Amino acid sequence: YLNYNELHQFLLKIANRYPNITKLYSIGKSIHNRDLWAIDIGVKDQKFKPSVKLVGNMHGDEVVGRQMLVYLIDYLCLKYYQKNVEAMEILENIELSIVPSMNPDGYELGQRENANNFDLNRNFPDKFVGFSSELYKVVQPEVRAIIEWCKKKNFIMSANLHGGSLVANYPYDSTRDSPNGYGFGIQFPSPDDVVFRKMALTYSLNHREMSKSSEFLGGIVNGAKWYTLRGGMQDWNYDFTNNMEITLELSYDKIPDSNQLNKYWDDNRKSLLKFIGLPLRLGVYGRVTNEKNENLLAEIKVARNERTITTDPANGYYTRLLDDGFYNITASANGYIPVTKFILLNANTRTNLEFILKKE
Ligand SMILES: [Zn+2]
Repeated sequence: YLNYNELHQFLLKIANRYPNITKLYSIGKSIHNRDLWAIDIGVKDQKFKPSVKLVGNMHGDEVVGRQMLVYLIDYLCLKYYQKNVEAMEILENIELSIVPSMNPDGYELGQRENANNFDLNRNFPDKFVGFSSELYKVVQPEVRAIIEWCKKKNFIMSANLHGGSLVANYPYDSTRDSPNGYGFGIQFPSPDDVVFRKMALTYSLNHREMSKSSEFLGGIVNGAKWYTLRGGMQDWNYDFTNNMEITLELSYDKIPDSNQLNKYWDDNRKSLLKFIGLPLRLGVYGRVTNEKNENLLAEIKVARNERTITTDPANGYYTRLLDDGFYNITASANGYIPVTKFILLNANTRTNLEFILKKE
């Protein structure tokens, strides 16, 4: 396992060796002033790439995911230059952002919580709790850094890597009806349950062991069905951003012996690669512009689905992950006449759907 300094050295080495496909930066500081390092991996050209993120080690004592992300960074960069087809597809078509450790203080202290003893996966704004300035005051710097980063990056799909079980967990974790935040066995699906199940199954079915679970059918579970929690990161992503996140539990043992790490990498490598590439095989994406070909900040809505997402004002693109089937999709923007299009989405491919809106 790499400690904080070794992890930093590793990331510097990668950034120096592969400057054309990586960007290393800090998204903020921990309580003990450690940087929360992030690395973007992708070919730097003008082509639109949906943004995918992977975050590890939110709980300081859950360390397998953190190390898997180290291996993944190394693997993708090396394989890209060896012209491996899968690595090339990912780097040319996805902008991947990785934070190997969201809680470096917890890691160094060997504890779940951050240095203020907050569980970071109970510290995000939660729509069922309500958002108050009082709550935001106690939002921890690590959580605040993630929130600010997500506002800038317009992620559309992500995973949060944990340990302590072996399962792909998907929203919601929180429920309207479990006021104390803890309850068991309450299935609480989101409006995009089908897509979340597909994301979770993409991970579990490509993992060497996860889908064979005797505890979780197919190796996946609705968060609230397992146990409810409030203030979790995956629900926040779904309710407050354009992103869809799942939570991966990668090992029963939170800190397995380091001689097991190669086995864990073999278990997870294919899952990680298939998961990252999923937005290239699912849903609909495109640009929303006005008649002058200017990018619009537009809302995208799918008929009979209550979720609204927006375009990224930086490039005018939206990405809406959807299962295959027929959909009515509406784009609307302030001062423009909304446009609705009827479209068939085929399986195992993504569909381009552009909108040009006329002034009211
Ligand atoms: Zn955890």
